Amino acid sequence: MVDVVIVGCGPVGALAANLLARAGLSAIVLEKERELHPLPRAVHLDHEMMRLFQSAGVIDAIAPDMRDTDGHLHVGADMGVIRYMGTVGSPRPYGWANDFFFYQPELEAHLRQGFAAMAEVDLRVGAEFTGLEQDAGGVTVRYMQDGADHAVTARWVIACDGSRSPVRKALGVELDDLGFEEPWLVVDAEVEGPVSFPPLTGVPTAADLQRLSVMMCDPRRPATVVPGRGNHRRWEFMLLPGEDDTAMMAPDKVAGLVGAWMKDVPHRIVRAATYRFHGLVAEQWQVGGVFLAGDAAHQTPPFFGQGMCHGLRDVANLAWKMAAVARQGASGELLATYQPERDPHVRAVIGAAVDAGRYICQLDPAKAAARDADLRAKAASGAAQTATDLVPAIGTGIVLAGSAGAGERFIQPVLADGRLLDDATGDGWRLFLRHPAQTGGETDISRIDAATLTDGGALLRWLDARGADAVLVRPDHYVFGTAVGDAAGLVAMRNEALGLARLEAAA
Ligand SMILES: Cc1cc2nc3c(=O)[nH]c(=O)nc-3n(C[C@H](O)[C@H](O)[C@H](O)COP(=O)(O)OP(=O)(O)OC[C@H]3O[C@@H](n4cnc5c(N)ncnc54)[C@H](O)[C@@H]3O)c2cc1C
Repeated sequence: MVDVVIVGCGPVGALAANLLARAGLSAIVLEKERELHPLPRAVHLDHEMMRLFQSAGVIDAIAPDMRDTDGHLHVGADMGVIRYMGTVGSPRPYGWANDFFFYQPELEAHLRQGFAAMAEVDLRVGAEFTGLEQDAGGVTVRYMQDGADHAVTARWVIACDGSRSPVRKALGVELDDLGFEEPWLVVDAEVEGPVSFPPLTGVPTAADLQRLSVMMCDPRRPATVVPGRGNHRRWEFMLLPGEDDTAMMAPDKVAGLVGAWMKDVPHRIVRAATYRFHGLVAEQWQVGGVFLAGDAAHQTPPFFGQGMCHGLRDVANLAWKMAAVARQGASGELLATYQPERDPHVRAVIGAAVDAGRYICQLDPAKAAARDADLRAKAASGAAQTATDLVPAIGTGIVLAGSAGAGERFIQPVLADGRLLDDATGDGWRLFLRHPAQTGGETDISRIDAATLTDGGALLRWLDARGADAVLVRPDHYVFGTAVGDAAGLVAMRNEALGLARLEAAA
Protein backbone atom coordinates (compact mmCIF):
# COMPACT_ATOMS: atom_id res chain seq x y z
CA MET A 1 0.00 0.00 0.00
CA VAL A 2 1.30 3.42 -0.93
CA ASP A 3 1.36 6.11 1.78
CA VAL A 4 -0.46 8.79 -0.22
CA VAL A 5 -2.36 9.08 -3.48
CA ILE A 6 -2.36 12.65 -4.74
CA VAL A 7 -5.15 13.37 -7.21
CA GLY A 8 -4.17 16.24 -9.53
CA CYS A 9 -0.70 17.49 -10.40
CA GLY A 10 -1.21 21.24 -10.61
CA PRO A 11 1.12 23.36 -8.46
CA VAL A 12 -0.45 22.15 -5.22
CA GLY A 13 -0.28 18.43 -6.02
CA ALA A 14 3.27 18.79 -7.34
CA LEU A 15 4.50 20.54 -4.19
CA ALA A 16 2.77 17.89 -2.07
CA ALA A 17 4.65 15.14 -3.94
CA ASN A 18 8.00 16.86 -3.33
CA LEU A 19 7.39 17.46 0.36
CA LEU A 20 6.04 13.98 1.05
CA ALA A 21 8.90 12.30 -0.81
CA ARG A 22 11.52 14.34 1.06
CA ALA A 23 9.87 13.23 4.29
CA GLY A 24 10.28 9.61 3.14
CA LEU A 25 6.65 8.89 2.24
CA SER A 26 5.67 7.11 -0.97
CA ALA A 27 3.18 8.86 -3.27
CA ILE A 28 1.31 8.01 -6.45
CA VAL A 29 0.20 11.13 -8.31
CA LEU A 30 -2.77 10.76 -10.67
CA GLU A 31 -3.07 13.50 -13.30
CA LYS A 32 -5.71 13.34 -15.99
CA GLU A 33 -3.85 15.52 -18.51
CA ARG A 34 -0.84 14.18 -20.41
CA GLU A 35 0.85 17.57 -20.77
CA LEU A 36 1.42 20.45 -18.37
CA HIS A 37 -1.19 23.20 -18.58
CA PRO A 38 0.57 25.63 -20.95
CA LEU A 39 -0.99 28.92 -19.77
CA PRO A 40 -0.54 30.87 -16.55
CA ARG A 41 -3.33 31.62 -14.10
CA ALA A 42 -1.46 32.61 -10.94
CA VAL A 43 1.25 35.24 -11.45
CA HIS A 44 2.07 36.29 -7.87
CA LEU A 45 3.26 34.51 -4.77
CA ASP A 46 4.71 35.64 -1.47
CA HIS A 47 7.89 35.00 0.51
CA GLU A 48 6.40 32.05 2.38
CA MET A 49 6.14 30.09 -0.88
CA MET A 50 9.82 30.69 -1.59
CA ARG A 51 10.57 29.22 1.82
CA LEU A 52 8.42 26.18 1.03
CA PHE A 53 10.31 25.75 -2.25
CA GLN A 54 13.49 25.76 -0.13
CA SER A 55 11.98 22.98 1.99
CA ALA A 56 11.02 21.06 -1.14
CA GLY A 57 14.59 21.28 -2.48
CA VAL A 58 13.50 23.06 -5.68
CA ILE A 59 14.44 26.64 -4.86
CA ASP A 60 17.63 26.69 -6.95
CA ALA A 61 15.67 25.81 -10.07
CA ILE A 62 12.76 28.13 -9.31
CA ALA A 63 14.43 31.29 -7.98
CA PRO A 64 16.09 32.36 -11.28
CA ASP A 65 12.65 32.43 -12.97
CA MET A 66 11.15 34.70 -10.33
CA ARG A 67 10.90 38.47 -10.40
CA ASP A 68 10.97 39.96 -6.93
CA THR A 69 8.75 42.87 -6.03
CA ASP A 70 7.27 44.66 -3.05
CA GLY A 71 3.52 44.79 -2.88
CA HIS A 72 0.29 46.16 -4.22
CA LEU A 73 -0.89 49.66 -5.13
CA HIS A 74 -4.57 50.60 -5.40
CA VAL A 75 -5.46 53.66 -7.49
CA GLY A 76 -8.80 55.45 -7.04
CA ALA A 77 -11.34 56.96 -9.42
CA ASP A 78 -9.43 60.28 -9.48
CA MET A 79 -6.21 58.47 -10.49
CA GLY A 80 -4.62 59.04 -7.09
CA VAL A 81 -3.28 56.29 -4.80
CA ILE A 82 -5.87 55.15 -2.25
CA ARG A 83 -4.07 52.16 -0.72
CA TYR A 84 -0.43 51.19 -0.81
CA MET A 85 0.46 47.79 0.60
CA GLY A 86 4.13 48.14 -0.06
CA THR A 87 7.37 46.92 1.42
CA VAL A 88 9.78 48.91 -0.75
CA GLY A 89 12.91 49.57 1.35
CA SER A 90 11.52 47.63 4.37
CA PRO A 91 13.44 44.90 6.19
CA ARG A 92 12.92 41.36 4.87
CA PRO A 93 12.43 39.29 8.03
CA TYR A 94 11.60 36.11 6.13
CA GLY A 95 14.74 36.19 4.00
CA TRP A 96 12.97 36.80 0.70
CA ALA A 97 11.32 39.82 -0.92
CA ASN A 98 7.69 40.08 0.16
CA ASP A 99 6.30 39.33 -3.30
CA PHE A 100 7.33 37.57 -6.50
CA PHE A 101 5.95 37.36 -10.02
CA PHE A 102 6.34 34.16 -11.99
CA TYR A 103 5.12 32.24 -15.03
CA GLN A 104 2.96 29.37 -13.81
CA PRO A 105 3.88 26.79 -16.48
CA GLU A 106 7.58 27.28 -15.62
CA LEU A 107 6.91 26.91 -11.92
CA GLU A 108 4.90 23.73 -12.45
CA ALA A 109 7.64 22.27 -14.67
CA HIS A 110 10.25 22.92 -11.96
CA LEU A 111 8.03 21.35 -9.31
CA ARG A 112 7.59 18.20 -11.41
CA GLN A 113 11.30 18.10 -12.18
CA GLY A 114 11.93 18.24 -8.42
CA PHE A 115 10.46 14.78 -7.86
CA ALA A 116 11.20 13.29 -11.30
CA ALA A 117 14.18 11.29 -10.05
CA MET A 118 12.71 10.38 -6.67
CA ALA A 119 11.84 6.71 -6.24
CA GLU A 120 9.14 7.66 -3.70
CA VAL A 121 6.99 9.43 -6.34
CA ASP A 122 5.17 7.73 -9.18
CA LEU A 123 3.47 10.28 -11.48
CA ARG A 124 0.82 8.70 -13.68
CA VAL A 125 -0.33 11.07 -16.43
CA GLY A 126 -3.46 10.54 -18.49
CA ALA A 127 -4.87 8.98 -15.29
CA GLU A 128 -8.35 10.30 -14.48
CA PHE A 129 -9.83 9.81 -11.01
CA THR A 130 -13.22 8.12 -11.25
CA GLY A 131 -14.14 7.20 -7.67
CA LEU A 132 -13.05 6.04 -4.22
CA GLU A 133 -14.01 3.86 -1.27
CA GLN A 134 -12.51 3.79 2.19
CA ASP A 135 -12.46 1.49 5.19
CA ALA A 136 -10.11 0.71 8.06
CA GLY A 137 -7.60 -0.69 5.56
CA GLY A 138 -7.16 2.62 3.73
CA VAL A 139 -8.60 4.46 0.74
CA THR A 140 -9.02 2.70 -2.60
CA VAL A 141 -8.86 5.15 -5.49
CA ARG A 142 -10.21 4.17 -8.89
CA TYR A 143 -8.97 5.79 -12.06
CA MET A 144 -9.09 5.40 -15.82
CA GLN A 145 -5.87 5.29 -17.85
CA ASP A 146 -5.38 4.24 -21.47
CA GLY A 147 -9.01 3.18 -21.68
CA ALA A 148 -8.73 0.74 -18.76
CA ASP A 149 -9.95 0.91 -15.16
CA HIS A 150 -7.32 0.77 -12.43
CA ALA A 151 -7.35 0.92 -8.64
CA VAL A 152 -4.74 1.75 -6.04
CA THR A 153 -4.97 1.67 -2.25
CA ALA A 154 -3.36 4.29 -0.06
CA ARG A 155 -3.22 5.15 3.59
CA TRP A 156 -4.33 8.69 2.71
CA VAL A 157 -5.50 10.68 -0.31
CA ILE A 158 -4.83 14.35 -0.94
CA ALA A 159 -7.26 15.79 -3.49
CA CYS A 160 -5.45 18.56 -5.39
CA ASP A 161 -7.79 18.27 -8.34
CA GLY A 162 -8.73 21.92 -8.70
CA SER A 163 -11.85 24.01 -8.35
CA ARG A 164 -14.19 21.48 -9.98
CA SER A 165 -12.66 18.72 -7.81
CA PRO A 166 -14.20 15.38 -8.79
CA VAL A 167 -12.94 14.03 -5.44
CA ARG A 168 -14.82 16.71 -3.50
CA LYS A 169 -17.93 15.89 -5.50
CA ALA A 170 -17.49 12.15 -4.92
CA LEU A 171 -17.33 12.85 -1.19
CA GLY A 172 -20.47 15.01 -1.36
CA VAL A 173 -18.70 17.98 0.28
CA GLU A 174 -20.45 21.30 -0.30
CA LEU A 175 -18.84 24.70 -0.77
CA ASP A 176 -19.55 27.60 1.55
CA ASP A 177 -20.15 30.63 -0.69
CA LEU A 178 -18.61 33.77 0.83
CA GLY A 179 -20.77 35.91 -1.41
CA PHE A 180 -18.51 37.16 -4.16
CA GLU A 181 -18.77 36.39 -7.85
CA GLU A 182 -17.57 38.76 -10.56
CA PRO A 183 -16.64 38.10 -14.19
CA TRP A 184 -13.19 39.32 -15.28
CA LEU A 185 -11.25 39.12 -18.53
CA VAL A 186 -7.63 37.97 -18.07
CA VAL A 187 -5.10 38.96 -20.74
CA ASP A 188 -1.46 37.80 -20.88
CA ALA A 189 1.00 39.46 -23.21
CA GLU A 190 4.71 39.52 -23.99
CA VAL A 191 5.66 43.18 -23.95
CA GLU A 192 9.00 44.56 -25.14
CA GLY A 193 9.08 47.76 -23.09
CA PRO A 194 7.50 49.65 -20.21
CA VAL A 195 3.74 49.79 -19.68
CA SER A 196 2.16 53.27 -20.04
CA PHE A 197 0.01 54.43 -17.13
CA PRO A 198 -2.29 57.46 -17.18
CA PRO A 199 -0.92 60.36 -15.07
CA LEU A 200 -1.24 59.20 -11.44
CA THR A 201 -0.73 61.03 -8.16
CA GLY A 202 0.74 59.68 -4.94
CA VAL A 203 2.75 56.88 -6.55
CA PRO A 204 5.92 56.13 -4.47
CA THR A 205 8.21 56.40 -7.52
CA ALA A 206 7.58 56.08 -11.27
CA ALA A 207 9.80 52.99 -11.31
CA ASP A 208 7.50 51.32 -8.75
CA LEU A 209 4.66 51.38 -11.29
CA GLN A 210 6.64 48.96 -13.41
CA ARG A 211 7.35 46.73 -10.39
CA LEU A 212 4.22 46.65 -8.24
CA SER A 213 0.89 45.00 -8.83
CA VAL A 214 -1.36 47.98 -9.62
CA MET A 215 -5.13 47.86 -9.11
CA MET A 216 -6.96 50.56 -11.05
CA CYS A 217 -10.20 51.04 -9.04
CA ASP A 218 -11.68 53.07 -11.88
CA PRO A 219 -15.49 52.80 -11.88
CA ARG A 220 -15.44 53.08 -15.67
CA ARG A 221 -13.53 49.76 -15.85
CA PRO A 222 -11.78 48.27 -12.81
CA ALA A 223 -8.54 46.63 -13.92
CA THR A 224 -5.34 45.07 -12.55
CA VAL A 225 -1.96 45.63 -14.18
CA VAL A 226 0.70 43.13 -13.16
CA PRO A 227 4.34 43.02 -14.23
CA GLY A 228 5.06 39.31 -14.65
CA ARG A 229 8.52 37.79 -14.91
CA GLY A 230 10.71 38.70 -17.92
CA ASN A 231 8.59 40.31 -20.61
CA HIS A 232 5.33 38.73 -19.41
CA ARG A 233 2.62 41.23 -18.43
CA ARG A 234 -0.86 40.48 -17.09
CA TRP A 235 -4.01 42.59 -17.27
CA GLU A 236 -7.29 41.69 -15.63
CA PHE A 237 -10.37 43.72 -16.62
CA MET A 238 -13.72 43.57 -14.91
CA LEU A 239 -16.57 42.85 -17.31
CA LEU A 240 -19.28 45.50 -17.05
CA PRO A 241 -22.97 44.65 -16.69
CA GLY A 242 -24.32 43.37 -20.01
CA GLU A 243 -20.93 42.49 -21.48
CA ASP A 244 -20.74 39.01 -22.91
CA ASP A 245 -17.81 36.74 -21.94
CA THR A 246 -17.22 35.39 -25.45
CA ALA A 247 -17.55 38.75 -27.18
CA MET A 248 -15.05 40.30 -24.76
CA MET A 249 -12.44 37.65 -25.63
CA ALA A 250 -12.50 38.61 -29.32
CA PRO A 251 -9.06 39.85 -30.53
CA ASP A 252 -10.30 43.36 -31.45
CA LYS A 253 -11.91 43.85 -28.03
CA VAL A 254 -8.78 42.61 -26.29
CA ALA A 255 -6.53 44.83 -28.42
CA GLY A 256 -8.76 47.81 -27.60
CA LEU A 257 -8.54 47.15 -23.87
CA VAL A 258 -4.78 46.62 -23.61
CA GLY A 259 -3.65 48.93 -26.44
CA ALA A 260 -3.69 52.09 -24.32
CA TRP A 261 -1.25 50.46 -21.87
CA MET A 262 1.32 49.62 -24.55
CA LYS A 263 1.63 52.75 -26.68
CA ASP A 264 4.29 52.20 -29.37
CA VAL A 265 5.67 49.19 -27.49
CA PRO A 266 5.92 45.95 -29.49
CA HIS A 267 3.83 43.24 -27.88
CA ARG A 268 2.16 39.90 -28.52
CA ILE A 269 -1.08 38.81 -26.86
CA VAL A 270 -0.51 35.32 -25.48
CA ARG A 271 -4.08 34.62 -24.49
CA ALA A 272 -7.33 36.17 -23.28
CA ALA A 273 -9.88 34.30 -21.20
CA THR A 274 -12.73 35.18 -18.88
CA TYR A 275 -12.98 33.84 -15.33
CA ARG A 276 -15.49 34.13 -12.53
CA PHE A 277 -13.68 35.36 -9.43
CA HIS A 278 -15.19 33.57 -6.41
CA GLY A 279 -14.87 33.35 -2.65
CA LEU A 280 -15.65 29.70 -1.81
CA VAL A 281 -14.52 27.38 1.00
CA ALA A 282 -15.29 23.65 1.34
CA GLU A 283 -17.40 22.91 4.41
CA GLN A 284 -15.34 19.82 5.21
CA TRP A 285 -11.66 19.42 4.31
CA GLN A 286 -11.22 15.90 5.63
CA VAL A 287 -13.45 12.89 5.12
CA GLY A 288 -11.81 9.88 6.80
CA GLY A 289 -8.44 9.46 5.11
CA VAL A 290 -9.17 11.90 2.27
CA PHE A 291 -8.03 15.54 2.49
CA LEU A 292 -8.97 18.40 0.17
CA ALA A 293 -6.21 20.90 -0.66
CA GLY A 294 -5.71 23.87 -2.97
CA ASP A 295 -8.58 24.98 -5.20
CA ALA A 296 -10.40 21.75 -4.35
CA ALA A 297 -10.79 23.17 -0.82
CA HIS A 298 -11.14 26.91 -1.50
CA GLN A 299 -11.19 29.56 -4.19
CA THR A 300 -10.04 33.10 -3.60
CA PRO A 301 -10.63 36.24 -5.69
CA PRO A 302 -7.08 36.95 -6.93
CA PHE A 303 -6.88 40.56 -5.69
CA PHE A 304 -3.91 39.84 -3.43
CA GLY A 305 -2.57 36.91 -5.47
CA GLN A 306 -3.10 34.37 -2.68
CA GLY A 307 -5.22 31.55 -4.16
CA MET A 308 -2.40 29.20 -5.05
CA CYS A 309 -0.43 30.32 -1.99
CA HIS A 310 -3.22 28.95 0.23
CA GLY A 311 -2.97 25.61 -1.53
CA LEU A 312 0.80 25.41 -1.09
CA ARG A 313 0.35 26.18 2.62
CA ASP A 314 -2.29 23.42 2.80
CA VAL A 315 0.03 20.70 1.59
CA ALA A 316 2.96 21.98 3.67
CA ASN A 317 0.65 21.62 6.67
CA LEU A 318 -0.42 18.10 5.69
CA ALA A 319 3.00 16.81 4.64
CA TRP A 320 4.77 17.17 7.99
CA LYS A 321 1.77 15.83 9.87
CA MET A 322 1.47 12.76 7.62
CA ALA A 323 5.20 12.15 8.02
CA ALA A 324 4.91 12.47 11.81
CA VAL A 325 2.10 9.90 11.90
CA ALA A 326 3.65 7.50 9.38
CA ARG A 327 7.29 7.70 10.44
CA GLN A 328 7.42 9.02 14.00
CA GLY A 329 4.50 7.29 15.64
CA ALA A 330 2.49 10.48 16.19
CA SER A 331 -1.21 9.96 16.77
CA GLY A 332 -3.47 9.76 13.71
CA GLU A 333 -5.55 12.44 15.46
CA LEU A 334 -2.85 14.90 14.45
CA LEU A 335 -4.38 15.02 10.97
CA ALA A 336 -7.66 16.21 12.44
CA THR A 337 -5.90 19.54 13.13
CA TYR A 338 -5.56 20.20 9.38
CA GLN A 339 -8.87 21.96 8.77
CA PRO A 340 -9.01 23.77 12.16
CA GLU A 341 -5.58 25.27 11.41
CA ARG A 342 -6.03 26.03 7.73
CA ASP A 343 -9.70 26.99 7.40
CA PRO A 344 -9.61 30.19 9.55
CA HIS A 345 -6.35 31.16 7.85
CA VAL A 346 -7.87 30.80 4.39
CA ARG A 347 -11.13 32.50 5.38
CA ALA A 348 -9.25 35.50 6.80
CA VAL A 349 -7.38 36.05 3.54
CA ILE A 350 -10.43 35.34 1.36
CA GLY A 351 -12.35 37.80 3.56
CA ALA A 352 -9.71 40.47 2.91
CA ALA A 353 -9.74 39.70 -0.83
CA VAL A 354 -13.55 39.78 -0.97
CA ASP A 355 -13.61 43.10 0.95
CA ALA A 356 -11.05 44.53 -1.47
CA GLY A 357 -12.98 43.03 -4.40
CA ARG A 358 -16.16 44.80 -3.28
CA TYR A 359 -14.53 48.21 -3.32
CA ILE A 360 -12.41 47.49 -6.41
CA CYS A 361 -15.52 46.45 -8.36
CA GLN A 362 -17.45 49.61 -7.40
CA LEU A 363 -19.00 50.98 -10.62
CA ASP A 364 -20.98 53.88 -9.14
CA PRO A 365 -18.86 57.08 -9.49
CA ALA A 366 -20.28 58.72 -6.34
CA LYS A 367 -19.73 55.60 -4.25
CA ALA A 368 -16.25 55.21 -5.76
CA ALA A 369 -15.39 58.78 -4.71
CA ALA A 370 -16.64 58.06 -1.17
CA ARG A 371 -14.58 54.84 -1.13
CA ASP A 372 -11.49 56.77 -2.18
CA ALA A 373 -11.97 59.28 0.65
CA ASP A 374 -12.55 56.48 3.15
CA LEU A 375 -9.45 54.50 2.15
CA ARG A 376 -7.28 57.61 2.17
CA ALA A 377 -8.53 58.47 5.67
CA LYS A 378 -7.66 54.96 6.82
CA ALA A 379 -4.19 55.24 5.29
CA ALA A 380 -3.68 58.65 6.96
CA SER A 381 -4.67 57.17 10.33
CA GLY A 382 -1.75 54.78 10.05
CA ALA A 383 -3.88 51.72 9.30
CA ALA A 384 -1.65 50.83 6.34
CA GLN A 385 -1.04 47.12 5.88
CA THR A 386 1.29 45.07 3.79
CA ALA A 387 0.12 41.88 2.10
CA THR A 388 2.07 39.98 4.77
CA ASP A 389 -0.22 41.45 7.45
CA LEU A 390 -3.23 39.84 5.76
CA VAL A 391 -2.03 36.37 6.75
CA PRO A 392 -2.98 35.71 10.38
CA ALA A 393 -1.18 33.57 12.94
CA ILE A 394 -2.43 30.00 13.36
CA GLY A 395 -4.79 30.25 16.31
CA THR A 396 -5.61 26.65 17.10
CA GLY A 397 -4.21 23.16 16.52
CA ILE A 398 -0.54 22.31 17.01
CA VAL A 399 0.36 25.61 18.64
CA LEU A 400 0.90 26.38 22.30
CA ALA A 401 -1.94 28.86 22.60
CA GLY A 402 -1.18 31.65 25.01
CA SER A 403 2.60 31.54 24.60
CA ALA A 404 4.03 34.66 22.97
CA GLY A 405 4.47 34.33 19.21
CA ALA A 406 2.60 30.99 18.94
CA GLY A 407 1.24 30.39 15.43
CA GLU A 408 3.31 33.17 13.81
CA ARG A 409 5.32 32.59 10.66
CA PHE A 410 8.88 32.35 11.93
CA ILE A 411 11.59 34.68 10.66
CA GLN A 412 14.34 33.47 8.36
CA PRO A 413 17.39 35.74 8.71
CA VAL A 414 20.24 35.77 6.24
CA LEU A 415 23.47 34.53 7.88
CA ALA A 416 26.90 36.09 7.52
CA ASP A 417 27.93 33.48 4.95
CA GLY A 418 24.93 34.40 2.76
CA ARG A 419 22.90 31.30 3.59
CA LEU A 420 19.32 31.56 4.76
CA LEU A 421 18.50 30.25 8.23
CA ASP A 422 16.73 27.07 7.05
CA ASP A 423 19.68 26.15 4.84
CA ALA A 424 21.87 26.17 7.93
CA THR A 425 19.47 24.57 10.43
CA GLY A 426 17.46 22.20 8.23
CA ASP A 427 13.71 22.52 8.20
CA GLY A 428 12.35 19.96 10.63
CA TRP A 429 11.41 20.82 14.21
CA ARG A 430 13.85 23.44 15.54
CA LEU A 431 14.34 24.70 19.06
CA PHE A 432 16.17 28.04 19.24
CA LEU A 433 17.60 28.71 22.69
CA ARG A 434 18.89 31.90 24.24
CA HIS A 435 21.22 30.06 26.67
CA PRO A 436 23.18 26.93 25.68
CA ALA A 437 22.64 25.51 29.19
CA GLN A 438 18.86 25.43 28.75
CA THR A 439 17.46 21.91 28.61
CA GLY A 440 15.00 20.71 26.01
CA GLY A 441 15.34 18.87 22.74
CA GLU A 442 14.62 15.44 21.39
CA THR A 443 16.17 13.25 18.75
CA ASP A 444 13.86 14.72 16.09
CA ILE A 445 14.31 18.33 17.25
CA SER A 446 17.39 20.34 16.26
CA ARG A 447 18.70 22.41 19.18
CA ILE A 448 20.18 25.71 18.06
CA ASP A 449 22.01 28.13 20.31
CA ALA A 450 20.68 31.50 19.11
CA ALA A 451 23.80 33.36 20.29
CA THR A 452 26.02 31.34 17.94
CA LEU A 453 24.02 32.21 14.82
CA THR A 454 25.68 34.81 12.60
CA ASP A 455 22.32 36.47 11.97
CA GLY A 456 23.19 39.93 13.25
CA GLY A 457 21.21 39.21 16.41
CA ALA A 458 17.87 38.72 14.60
CA LEU A 459 16.93 35.60 16.60
CA LEU A 460 17.75 37.19 19.94
CA ARG A 461 15.77 40.30 19.00
CA TRP A 462 12.82 38.06 18.05
CA LEU A 463 13.01 36.38 21.49
CA ASP A 464 13.42 39.77 23.25
CA ALA A 465 10.33 41.16 21.51
CA ARG A 466 8.27 38.27 22.87
CA GLY A 467 9.88 38.14 26.30
CA ALA A 468 10.97 34.55 25.65
CA ASP A 469 14.11 32.46 26.10
CA ALA A 470 13.26 29.67 23.67
CA VAL A 471 11.13 29.18 20.58
CA LEU A 472 10.08 25.86 19.06
CA VAL A 473 9.42 26.06 15.30
CA ARG A 474 7.38 23.53 13.28
CA PRO A 475 8.56 21.92 10.03
CA ASP A 476 6.24 24.26 8.09
CA HIS A 477 8.00 27.25 9.71
CA TYR A 478 5.15 28.31 12.00
CA VAL A 479 5.94 28.82 15.67
CA PHE A 480 4.66 26.05 17.95
CA GLY A 481 5.34 28.12 21.04
CA THR A 482 7.83 29.92 23.23
CA ALA A 483 9.10 29.43 26.78
CA VAL A 484 10.58 31.61 29.46
CA GLY A 485 13.53 29.88 31.14
CA ASP A 486 13.78 26.16 30.65
CA ALA A 487 12.53 24.67 27.37
CA ALA A 488 11.90 21.09 28.52
CA GLY A 489 8.26 21.89 29.26
CA LEU A 490 7.81 23.34 25.77
CA VAL A 491 9.08 20.12 24.21
CA ALA A 492 6.90 18.02 26.52
CA MET A 493 3.86 20.00 25.42
CA ARG A 494 4.78 19.48 21.80
CA ASN A 495 5.04 15.74 22.39
CA GLU A 496 1.66 15.79 24.09
CA ALA A 497 0.15 17.71 21.15
CA LEU A 498 1.56 15.24 18.61
CA GLY A 499 0.43 12.26 20.65
CA LEU A 500 4.05 11.20 21.19
CA ALA A 501 3.69 11.36 24.97
CA ARG A 502 1.74 8.09 24.95
CA LEU A 503 4.74 6.39 23.30
CA GLU A 504 7.05 7.74 26.00
CA ALA A 505 4.66 6.53 28.67
CA ALA A 506 4.54 3.07 27.11
CA ALA A 507 8.35 2.82 26.80
C1 LIG B 1 -7.06 34.71 -13.39
C2 LIG B 1 -6.47 34.08 -12.18
C3 LIG B 1 -5.40 34.69 -11.54
C4 LIG B 1 -4.85 34.10 -10.42
N1 LIG B 1 -3.79 34.72 -9.81
C5 LIG B 1 -3.22 34.15 -8.74
C6 LIG B 1 -2.04 34.71 -8.17
O1 LIG B 1 -1.51 35.69 -8.66
N2 LIG B 1 -1.50 34.10 -7.08
C7 LIG B 1 -2.04 32.96 -6.54
O2 LIG B 1 -1.51 32.47 -5.53
N3 LIG B 1 -3.13 32.39 -7.09
C8 LIG B 1 -3.73 32.95 -8.16
N4 LIG B 1 -4.78 32.34 -8.76
C9 LIG B 1 -5.26 31.05 -8.23
C10 LIG B 1 -4.40 29.89 -8.71
O3 LIG B 1 -4.27 29.89 -10.10
C11 LIG B 1 -5.00 28.59 -8.24
O4 LIG B 1 -5.28 28.69 -6.85
C12 LIG B 1 -4.04 27.41 -8.46
O5 LIG B 1 -3.69 27.25 -9.80
C13 LIG B 1 -4.71 26.14 -7.95
O6 LIG B 1 -3.80 25.09 -7.99
P1 LIG B 1 -4.30 23.61 -7.71
O7 LIG B 1 -3.07 22.77 -7.89
O8 LIG B 1 -5.08 23.55 -6.45
O9 LIG B 1 -5.37 23.33 -8.86
P2 LIG B 1 -5.15 23.29 -10.45
O10 LIG B 1 -4.02 24.15 -10.86
O11 LIG B 1 -6.49 23.55 -11.03
O12 LIG B 1 -4.73 21.79 -10.72
C14 LIG B 1 -5.66 20.74 -10.61
C15 LIG B 1 -5.10 19.54 -11.37
O13 LIG B 1 -5.98 18.44 -11.16
C16 LIG B 1 -6.15 17.76 -12.41
N5 LIG B 1 -7.41 17.03 -12.36
C17 LIG B 1 -8.66 17.52 -12.39
N6 LIG B 1 -9.56 16.52 -12.38
C18 LIG B 1 -8.86 15.37 -12.33
C19 LIG B 1 -9.22 13.99 -12.30
N7 LIG B 1 -10.50 13.58 -12.35
N8 LIG B 1 -8.24 13.06 -12.24
C20 LIG B 1 -6.93 13.43 -12.20
N9 LIG B 1 -6.54 14.72 -12.25
C21 LIG B 1 -7.48 15.68 -12.31
C22 LIG B 1 -6.13 18.87 -13.43
O14 LIG B 1 -5.82 18.39 -14.73
C23 LIG B 1 -5.05 19.78 -12.87
O15 LIG B 1 -3.77 19.46 -13.36
C24 LIG B 1 -5.37 32.89 -9.90
C25 LIG B 1 -6.43 32.27 -10.55
C26 LIG B 1 -6.97 32.86 -11.67
C27 LIG B 1 -8.09 32.14 -12.36
